[in-house]
Amino acid sequence: MGNAGESWDDEYDVVVAGSGAGAMAGALAAASGGLRTAVLEKTGVLGGTSAYSGSAIWLPGTRVQERAGIGDSAGSARTYLRALIGDGTAAHREAFLETAPELVEFLERDPAIEFEFQPFPDYYDAPGRMDMGRSFVPLPLPAERLGERAGLVRPPVDRDRAGRGHSASKPLVQGRALIGRLLLAITETGNGDVRTGTALTDLVVEDGRVTGVVAATADGPVRLRARRGVLLAAGGFESSAELRGERAVPGGAGWTMAPDGANTGDAITAATAIGAATGLLDQAWFCPGVLTPDGLPAFTLGFRGGLIVDGAGRRFANESLPYDQMGRRLAAAEGPFHLIFDARSKGLPAISVPPVALEEQVASGRWIEAGSLAELAARTGLPADALAATVERFNGFAAKGVDEDFHRGEDPYDLFFTGGKPGLGPVGEPPYYAAEIVLSDLGTKGGLRTDPDARVLDGSDRPVPGLYAAGNTSASFTGPVYPGPGIPIGSAMAFAYRAVQDMRR
Ligand code: FAD
Repeated sequence: MGNAGESWDDEYDVVVAGSGAGAMAGALAAASGGLRTAVLEKTGVLGGTSAYSGSAIWLPGTRVQERAGIGDSAGSARTYLRALIGDGTAAHREAFLETAPELVEFLERDPAIEFEFQPFPDYYDAPGRMDMGRSFVPLPLPAERLGERAGLVRPPVDRDRAGRGHSASKPLVQGRALIGRLLLAITETGNGDVRTGTALTDLVVEDGRVTGVVAATADGPVRLRARRGVLLAAGGFESSAELRGERAVPGGAGWTMAPDGANTGDAITAATAIGAATGLLDQAWFCPGVLTPDGLPAFTLGFRGGLIVDGAGRRFANESLPYDQMGRRLAAAEGPFHLIFDARSKGLPAISVPPVALEEQVASGRWIEAGSLAELAARTGLPADALAATVERFNGFAAKGVDEDFHRGEDPYDLFFTGGKPGLGPVGEPPYYAAEIVLSDLGTKGGLRTDPDARVLDGSDRPVPGLYAAGNTSASFTGPVYPGPGIPIGSAMAFAYRAVQDMRR
């Protein structure tokens, strides 16, 4: 804990730790309302996993869905969320639904921010589902609008992992457009101070209230006062092998999709040190990841052919399941897991982030190419007979267009990626391929317990005055469920916005 009574290096109304979508939306709400606001970012660039993301935003019943004429409403979203999650977090659900239209109106009032509906099905067959989805994305942002500030936004995942920085000539798209637009809006207010290379380490408590933070910088620690409040939106602990181990989060710190080393649970640790309560700590937003030549996963979705087998050479799930559900099947099964497909390459997923190229994968030795299934089995260590039997059975389903075992291709989500066909591309034309699949994630989703105004709670369920949390730093109101595309970012933004509304009261 930071020592009370020492002098401050700088004074703000609001200090925000982290710079993902929730942090930046919260910072904009504060700065645009005249509050002097600091955004503290541990790394040299802004946006964290949010910048890597597809930037789908699941905020139902707003003017964006109304413009698109898709018939979405807060009522149908309530029905859907209730069917999936129950009423255990009903107060948070209602706060989220109430805030969504107000937040989007607030954001789009800013000339820097514009959204459009993008079809992407909700993830569960449940009442209130929208088969073509209800989430939306920011419009691409020409880099010139940000000028030099464009270099502050985290580069796309492939360039970032290779240390190649930004492509200066290209517009910012998806998650980078979202972070870039929020950055533009924050800096234009004149009240936002964006401090990269500044890692929150401790919270300062005076008379039972959080009054500021201590943060590490290259020039040593700084003490920053927060007159109205501190918003912790610094991601989860997906990149901490130690914390993952303690909480038995399936997957691994080396297999998360979060930027290398960024999200190690610092904000959660700082808050628990002053008595904050936590929940849901064994949970993450899971996904399958196909291993790439550098040994890191590429988030994959939308399998159009081929099949995934477990260590015994058997299928164990509908490969086209929404990625969090597929991740949970991976967690429950015994690996190693392989995607098996043939020369027609239909097994390559519709989307992989970063993109994967078959030739490059094979050349690196990461993916295996073989002239026969028996050779593929020998080189992967899979039992040859089991693999042959699995492929034969699957090819029978492919011929009929019906997956009798796992019903792949029957749900609108499966069909979204396959142009309405079952997506059961058979495996029968050599060469054959095996690509290792691991249990990856888009971030942990357990963390600080909060009330519906994002106030962090202590062990007795009382708000810690002056302290707020959003995004993956907080325990998600969705529990172990991932309802639809854009829930992580949509809920992070909604609760960050609510935190700032509460700070103003
Ligand atoms: P982040 O966005 O990771 O931000 C946390 C930031 O805090 C980081 O910049 C980190 O460096 C910083 N930080 C960490 N510790 C400190 C500290 N001590 N002090 C200061 N700063 C600190 N979700 C969606 O909703 N829609 C999508 O379309 C979507 N697509 C995705 C696609 C991909 C490829 C991936 C990888 C994820 C996707 N997700 C999507 C998931 C989503 O991006 C994340 O779960 C979400 O953005 C996490 O937000 P966050 O603010 O909690 O964390």
